[in-house]
Amino acid sequence: MPELPEVETVRRGLVPGVTGRTISGVAVLHPRPVRRHLPGPDHFAAALTGRTFAEPRRRGKYLWLPFTDGDALLAHLGMSGQFRLDQPGAPLVPNTRVLVDFDDGGQQLRFVDQRMFGGLSLSPDGAELPAEVAHIALDPFDPEFDPHEVVARLRRKRTGVKRALLDQQLVSGIGNIYADEALWRARTHYARATATIPTARALEVVLAAREVMATALARGGTSFDALYVDVNGSSGYFDRSLAVYGQEGRPCPRCGSPVRREPFMNRSAFRCPRCQRTPHGSSYAG
Ligand SMILES: [Zn+2]
Repeated sequence: MPELPEVETVRRGLVPGVTGRTISGVAVLHPRPVRRHLPGPDHFAAALTGRTFAEPRRRGKYLWLPFTDGDALLAHLGMSGQFRLDQPGAPLVPNTRVLVDFDDGGQQLRFVDQRMFGGLSLSPDGAELPAEVAHIALDPFDPEFDPHEVVARLRRKRTGVKRALLDQQLVSGIGNIYADEALWRARTHYARATATIPTARALEVVLAAREVMATALARGGTSFDALYVDVNGSSGYFDRSLAVYGQEGRPCPRCGSPVRREPFMNRSAFRCPRCQRTPHGSSYAG
């Protein structure tokens, strides 16, 4: 699943590739990725043609390509969705699903998706903020993001700190990988109760999440299964820089203790047993 840095990498790649360009035609090669457009693939293609893209936007893991007329094309990357920009007529990579041509005859926008959990849909009036995204909280990179306000709301919850970080209505864009990395940086156990965590510690966790995602972004995102690539087709590679996520048994980069993997919400939590000690009193395990 792509996390915020991966999605932002894709967005940044799309900005110079689509902004200000007018669609001259759309070819839907497989109907599944446009299944959310209920009138069907032909209608989808016709509905996009003639529109001009404004600058692509993002909130959390949600990406949308606004049109200058106020509507937007919402992109669900799912598990394996990718965009590519290729010359028209260049060979298609496997699993290419949708082709978008422009009236300037330049690079073609291609949506590629192996597993097809993702897709594209038209969001009426969605240019500023699609209705599908409106319930999602601001992410740590949003200029209006206020870490103090997020900490205040986090501390009113009756849950564990990692669960709170993953709650997209509290703060968006933090997934399993960056939650574990942020908690490690802030020396905090994932099950630490939000109601009793000191404000300063909670702030440290939230700021660490922003920091670790900014680092990932600077490196082009994290890639584990090679399904994710940016718009130019190169894989992100941040996995070697992860301190605890996926590092079971390897030494903690800070103290050398072997990293532990523990069951959490049907997935895993990775932590250093010395830097992130089990909390006393109330805690919320997975
Ligand atoms: Zn440690």
